[in-house]
Amino acid sequence: MHIDIDTGRCIGAGQCALAAPAVFTQDDDGYSTLVPGREDGAGDPMVREAARACPVGAITVTEG
Ligand code: SF4
Repeated sequence: MHIDIDTGRCIGAGQCALAAPAVFTQDDDGYSTLVPGREDGAGDPMVREAARACPVGAITVTEG
């Protein structure tokens, strides 16, 4: 699994970190970033939920 966060699109709403806190966190400015070591999504089924929850569609999840 590969997760891409479009940081130019992210508005810091925090929905991703709420939905999948094991994978997404927020940096000092409140923007989404991946938890170190979890860049592959760690097989967390909530990653897709987080992508859906993002109000601006900044998260792209691809398999492989
Ligand atoms: S839910 Fe979307 S807009 Fe909000 S912090 Fe996550 S990536 Fe950014």
